[in-house]
Amino acid sequence: MRLVLTAVTAGLAMLAVSFSLLAFRYQNRLIETSRYNSTFDMTQVSAELLRLIVALYDGVGNNDIDQIALRYNILQSRIKVMVSTPPLGVMPSDMIVLQKLEQDVRGMQTLMVPPVNRQSTLNAINALKTSVSPTQRLAALAHSRAGDRVMSMQSDLKLVSAGLYLILLALVLFGALLIVFAFRQIGHLDKAISTDTLTGIGNRLSFHEALLRSAHMECAIVILDINQFKVLNDTLGHDRGDRVLVIVSKRLRDVASSADHIARIGGDEFAVLYTGANALVRAASYCKAMKAAMLEPVLIDAQNMTIGVALGCSSGVLTNSSTLFKDADIALQHDKCKRQGVFTLFHPDMKLDLMRSQRLEQDLQVAVERQEMYLMFQPIIDLETSRTMGFEALLRWNHPEFGLVSPAEFIPLAEGSGHIRTIGEWVIAEACRQAKLWPGDAFVAVNVSAKQLADPGLVAHVRECLEVNGLDAKRLEIEITETTLIENDTAALSVLRDLRALGCVISLDDFGTGYASLSYLHRFPFDKIKIDQSFVQSDNESHDNIAIIETICTLANRLGLQIVAEGIELEQQRHVVREAGCDLGQGYLFDRPLKPEALMARLKGEVLA
Ligand code: C2E
Ligand code: CA
Ligand code: CA
Repeated sequence: MRLVLTAVTAGLAMLAVSFSLLAFRYQNRLIETSRYNSTFDMTQVSAELLRLIVALYDGVGNNDIDQIALRYNILQSRIKVMVSTPPLGVMPSDMIVLQKLEQDVRGMQTLMVPPVNRQSTLNAINALKTSVSPTQRLAALAHSRAGDRVMSMQSDLKLVSAGLYLILLALVLFGALLIVFAFRQIGHLDKAISTDTLTGIGNRLSFHEALLRSAHMECAIVILDINQFKVLNDTLGHDRGDRVLVIVSKRLRDVASSADHIARIGGDEFAVLYTGANALVRAASYCKAMKAAMLEPVLIDAQNMTIGVALGCSSGVLTNSSTLFKDADIALQHDKCKRQGVFTLFHPDMKLDLMRSQRLEQDLQVAVERQEMYLMFQPIIDLETSRTMGFEALLRWNHPEFGLVSPAEFIPLAEGSGHIRTIGEWVIAEACRQAKLWPGDAFVAVNVSAKQLADPGLVAHVRECLEVNGLDAKRLEIEITETTLIENDTAALSVLRDLRALGCVISLDDFGTGYASLSYLHRFPFDKIKIDQSFVQSDNESHDNIAIIETICTLANRLGLQIVAEGIELEQQRHVVREAGCDLGQGYLFDRPLKPEALMARLKGEVLA
């Protein structure tokens, strides 16, 4: 369409130029014809002929040769010009008349010598008289011919002008169409620039523009993030991940129909803007409705999945759009960590938390070096005999200013900043050093995170720690979570195989909380599974959870894997997991994480018992 319009407009423009040139040429020819036709010359010849005849008569009367000579010369030069360069409109028949006149005039040459010869002069007069009426007729003819030519050219010019007007009209029409088309295209382009291609809702740019439009208004911003989307995307594949995004955006649109703007502002992040009176109230009820909408499972390839979302909200009069947006984002980060309630509303204290995180992240760099970190050891018990089989090494950080900081807080920061490698290496070295001091052969389990598993030097480091401390490799267990595996699937597989080849035990931590639990049991070389404490601690009367634990135990037995139940706090929980088929248990019921001295006391006590 655009090509056709452009081609037609260009063609018309070229035609208009050609027609303009044509009209210009016609006008020039018209001017030439009007200005340079033979009428004037013919009239002059005819008039000069009469003047010469009159001069000849006068010359005969008063014997004046000068007047005759003057007229003779004028007529002769006029005829000469006409014959040598005939003006426009002179016909061949006209030339015969002129040539005869020229001849007669030339014959008068001898008369121009005084005195005036009366008889010869009268003869010349008679000869010239014969040309009077033909030259007058020629003058009249030249006039009418010139008129005819001008008229014919004028009608040609009219045609050319009419054509030119038509072309100009068409040009204006097509030009207008082209402009309309261009505006439509610009409209489409504007829409494309501000639309998210995958979901069809707005994008980050359009959201930013919506915020600018809402300056000085009462606003509420909600930012929504899909829980563990990266894991989901990596597990299910990007196509299915995209489908999840489309489904979420549709629910978002359905639920937030009264919102001022809805946009996808990042991979799995969406933003909703409410403006005007009660913006926050409307945003809060949107959050409730969205959480309820997300309870409905998402059907992907005949598989039902429940997708969780985190929601952060900020509100106030919009004086600085980026501040209000950042506030909502801070609230979202809080919501992701805390996961309490329907959504998290921004509070200035959250900024302090953010500053604390930034400070912790900075201080993590030197925490090991400054010996602020130490290990606690939580016993893992044989549920049958109640004997301590080993300990899980749990990291602690005694921050000089903030005091004891939980690993749940600093481990994600260390993972995000890359400090986890140094810290993780220290944990392995320290765990091996401590374990070597223990009486008996209790194992020590260390937690290894995704970034560590991606470190090509990990296996060499483990080998070195075992050798330096003279620790039997089978006493060292490596605990990894499913998320760790999903984040670096193939690399993780080879590292785990190498660690196993060293003789270490590989344990799958927090089992049941990830996405692809069962498939990973087949693919990776595990020796143990640790059932997440959420299964153990949930209402033990719940037959669903007991059934899940039983199923995991049956499967693990078939695969020859040992099972540890985590988070056992009550005797009843111990009973349930034991009945379900778990081999080992860990939890406050047996002991909290212990300092090395308390651990020694426990082990020695068991030896004595
Ligand atoms: P995790 O590996 O699941 O460790 C078990 C967590 O549950 C520990 O929390 C432990 O104190 C707690 N716990 C044990 N028994 C009970 C119980 O009966 N009830 C309850 N409510 N909790 C119990 P902790 O020490 O705060 O560690 C939290 C998480 O931090 C760990 O979860 C682990 O993922 C991570 N972490 C700890 N140390 C390290 C480490 O050295 N390296 C890495 N990468 N992560 C670590
Ligand atoms: Ca663990
Ligand atoms: Ca665990």
